[in-house]
Amino acid sequence: MTLKKILIVSGTHGNEINPVWAVNQFKKQLSTIDENIEYKTIIGNPLAYERGCRYIDSDLNRSFNVKKNNLDSKIYEINRANFLVKKFGVNGIEPCQIAIDLHTTTANMGTSIVMYGRRSKDFCLAALLQHKFGLPIYLHEKDEKQTGFLVEAWPCGLVIEIGSVAQNYYDPKIINKFLIIISSLKNEINKLKNNQIKLPKGLTVYVHQGSIDYPRDKNGNISALIHPKRMNKDWNPIKKGDPLFMDVAGNTQIYTGEDTIWPVFIGEVAYKEKNIAMSYTKKEVINFSNQICDDFF
Ligand SMILES: [Zn+2]
Repeated sequence: MTLKKILIVSGTHGNEINPVWAVNQFKKQLSTIDENIEYKTIIGNPLAYERGCRYIDSDLNRSFNVKKNNLDSKIYEINRANFLVKKFGVNGIEPCQIAIDLHTTTANMGTSIVMYGRRSKDFCLAALLQHKFGLPIYLHEKDEKQTGFLVEAWPCGLVIEIGSVAQNYYDPKIINKFLIIISSLKNEINKLKNNQIKLPKGLTVYVHQGSIDYPRDKNGNISALIHPKRMNKDWNPIKKGDPLFMDVAGNTQIYTGEDTIWPVFIGEVAYKEKNIAMSYTKKEVINFSNQICDDFF
């Protein structure tokens, strides 16, 4: 691809306000001199952002099954997804070749990269950011219940996910982390292009395996909460017999699987409606070399 423009999307979820603030600051610093790579910025879901809610009709970050999308849908987010692709998609009016979608989580995940599927361009960009910042990579794939992610509508794209922070709550430390990452993107890509970066041979990724719901009673109500020993322990391995949930009487539900798993999005507030108490991953090392980036530019 001929890389010319990077699209930075914030406010894809309207109640994740720190990325929007960070992008506004970032725009003030942008210089337009000598730009071989240009940034474009947009608020993903402006109406939801204005109202301080995650979405209006449906989750925008599950609405990018663009080929299947009805062109005159009554669902605000479907129309918005179509608009964003029409405007900034590779064949759009202002074509962008990379999309970076900025999100926050209420889970204690720190800063991480989320990628969807195994596209070589995504691996390249993820490796570049991991090389620079040492960030963990969560590879989301093969989850039929969750599809239509924004970045999948571009030939290359990643989510930067930072937490923990409450929804609709400004945290300058979180804002600063976003600023550092998006400000460095262009430089890092240029360094890679000029062969100034040697990427590591093995890329460790946390591959999505599934999600675990809260224990529920026969009426479907949550009957036990995340175990105190599991709270805020994202990325920490869970082995057979380790505690997962505890009910009000102090009864513990343990993990009974044979394989060690690594949890993410533990207790994420926005995932309660998706019946997810946490998702879990396994570690995989991807063979890697700079060659994987050959078709990046
Ligand atoms: Zn989000």
